[in-house]
Amino acid sequence: FLFHSLQAKMSRPVQARRLEGVDKNIWVEFVKLAATYSKVNLGQGFPDFPPPDFLTEALTRALGGGNHMLHQYTRAFGHPPLVKVLAQFFEKLLGRDLDPMTNVMVTVGAYQALFCCFQALVDEGDEVIIIEPFFDCYEPMVKMAGGTPVFVPLRPNPPKDGKLMSSADWQLDPVELASKFSERTKAIVLNSPNNPLGKVFSRGELGLIAELCVKHDVLCISDEVYEWLVYDGKQHIRIASLQGMWDRTVIIGSAGKTFSTTGWKVGWVVGPDRLLQHLRTVHQNSVYHCATIVQEAVAQGFQRELMLYGKPESYFVQLPKELQQKRDWLVQSLDDVGMKPIIPEGTYFVVADISQFKSDVPDVPNSDEPYDSRFAKWMVKNKGLAAIPLSAFYSEAHKNNYTNFIRFCFAKEEATLKAANDILQKWKHEKTS
Ligand code: PMP
Repeated sequence: FLFHSLQAKMSRPVQARRLEGVDKNIWVEFVKLAATYSKVNLGQGFPDFPPPDFLTEALTRALGGGNHMLHQYTRAFGHPPLVKVLAQFFEKLLGRDLDPMTNVMVTVGAYQALFCCFQALVDEGDEVIIIEPFFDCYEPMVKMAGGTPVFVPLRPNPPKDGKLMSSADWQLDPVELASKFSERTKAIVLNSPNNPLGKVFSRGELGLIAELCVKHDVLCISDEVYEWLVYDGKQHIRIASLQGMWDRTVIIGSAGKTFSTTGWKVGWVVGPDRLLQHLRTVHQNSVYHCATIVQEAVAQGFQRELMLYGKPESYFVQLPKELQQKRDWLVQSLDDVGMKPIIPEGTYFVVADISQFKSDVPDVPNSDEPYDSRFAKWMVKNKGLAAIPLSAFYSEAHKNNYTNFIRFCFAKEEATLKAANDILQKWKHEKTS
């Protein structure tokens, strides 16, 4: 009896204050919708083709080979073979010496790398500049750390000649960007190539950001998970390699994107020890380390890539080549039906303009939900095609700035992209007949 009455009295708020306003997550909702209704899922960003054989073979070897210690704990901050090869690899990319033990840390996906950054580097009252549109978790992660996100938009400048827009046509206004920096600014989050637009920031744009970081003594959290996925001969430039930036930048990467193994959840950070030492504190007090056996397989994958660096057989050369073809197919499909695509310079996403399809999906005046979100829900339920509304990549205050766009993922088998094309073609004919 006593036990029951005590339970009944449990009426105090159970939720920690830091969770206020961060409880909604668009992926939970859209992944469920896609699972329930989609025939073709171009929503969440993951490949539906297999990872490269050399990687799955490395995992099989790790699993069945003689070293049963690969089933046990490994070093907290990264399995030694993996941090060593990552250090070697990034020495090449950055042109500087790296210590595998202090300049590299392995995380549970890039997601946990981001979480460590915000927890370790952002304090109550700190401001963190986020460039919109952005990978949605930056905002709640800054808030959970007690920081205040400050948003600055990429603004579209459509080409005058009627050509399709490119992700390069979305640009920062230098004056507006500069106006967001103040003595309260602790960090800026940079994501190049950018999810969702596919924008690959140019040397000039990165130079501007770097200059402001140095001037205001601001850190840069550089999310480079799509570093190998750049097209049309574009170059991915690492902001850490610009003057004055190494010391204030944390580079984030993901084996999920790099080797088409999003389910393995292996990520990493590369940066100066003076920053990484604090990320290690968060890591050791939260997850401690991530699965040994997948770290071993990823290490072997990187050893192969190090040997084949820049050669045609390299996966980091082959994957973007294949994806560029897939991008072109999807761009063509979307353009054909009048869902104008913004041609991405990188990543495996295309954002498309749904304006010409609006008549099919009635607007609900004064609704709280942005139009693109309603459109994406209608599309998956009625056409079986899953995509993600662009408004999901904007802060609450700016969700209604761009509501005529949805994002498609093209890291998909040819058959999947063909099936998407069939749905779009059929829809177009229904509209016109
Ligand atoms: N950053 C960006 C920009 C992403 O798009 C993603 C995954 N969609 C992540 C980080 C998270 O990567 P991971 O799956 O390795 O946790």
